[in-house]
Amino acid sequence: MLNISNLGITFTQYDQGLHRKQLTVITDLDLTVQAGELVAVVGASGSGKSLLAHTLLGILPENAQLSGTMEFQGEPLTQKRCEALRGKAIALIPQSVGYLDPLMAVGRQVQRVGQLNGLPSRSARSLMERTFARYDLPAHTPKRYPFQLSGGMARRVLVSTAVMTQAQLVIADEPTPGLHPDVVTETLNHLRELAQGGRGVMLITHDIEAALQVADRVAVFYAGTTVEIANAQDFTTGNLRHPYTQALWRSLPQNDFVPVPGNQPSPDQLPVGCLYGDRCSWSTADCKRARPELQFIRQGWVRCIHAEG
Ligand code: SF4
Repeated sequence: MLNISNLGITFTQYDQGLHRKQLTVITDLDLTVQAGELVAVVGASGSGKSLLAHTLLGILPENAQLSGTMEFQGEPLTQKRCEALRGKAIALIPQSVGYLDPLMAVGRQVQRVGQLNGLPSRSARSLMERTFARYDLPAHTPKRYPFQLSGGMARRVLVSTAVMTQAQLVIADEPTPGLHPDVVTETLNHLRELAQGGRGVMLITHDIEAALQVADRVAVFYAGTTVEIANAQDFTTGNLRHPYTQALWRSLPQNDFVPVPGNQPSPDQLPVGCLYGDRCSWSTADCKRARPELQFIRQGWVRCIHAEG
């Protein structure tokens, strides 16, 4: 359904006066999402997760230049097509109710999503009511304003917006931070249901534990590139391929609880070789010569020249 290959994003910025500089924030980013699949995109802040979502929704600023290829349903995903598909074939479940209009009752807002997707007013209202009921939202919810919703209700309303579309690809951007664990589980289960219904779901999160509850595959982003695409079970079966993914896994409280030392390189100080080189205990002179290619090893993808088959 979605096929992203060697995506690069560079911003042109004015430095001093009229002097312009190029800032490359995404390099060689690869990702696929199939229909019926939930793919988690995990990584620290600044790893490129949200920029990818903005790219797919066609909302990058005008000073961004893209390279590489993006295809959706077998057709190139151009800026024009991203804009045309946004909120229809490609839908975003935003992070918070802050994305909703604070001055309009949520029922009308969710109904409007259905109307923008071609449903007559009455059908959109009926679908909104059935969707709210499906998510166990109380009968008075459509008349509530965003600020009147609890955290759990807000998540269910936001998931409802995606259900109101015919979206084949649903992007959930950090849907769990700050929520009660029960609400986290409920939200993740709703995303899983969307995938089981045949949609492709991209779950953007920094929370590996949450991702592993529902994901089929996990793409690990680091400094704007994909360092590994693992199957969810690879985390628990010791089948991880990249030293960064292994370090992330070990850093969890239920594992060794050892933080990953060092920091991601900033976009204006990227090394010539492997982007993880400065923090990697496996690093050799060869790692510093060129960026590693993505290779298929043990049924997953990894960008490391020393990953073992
Ligand atoms: S290519 Fe080298 S520096 Fe990069 S992750 Fe692999 S071993 Fe570490």
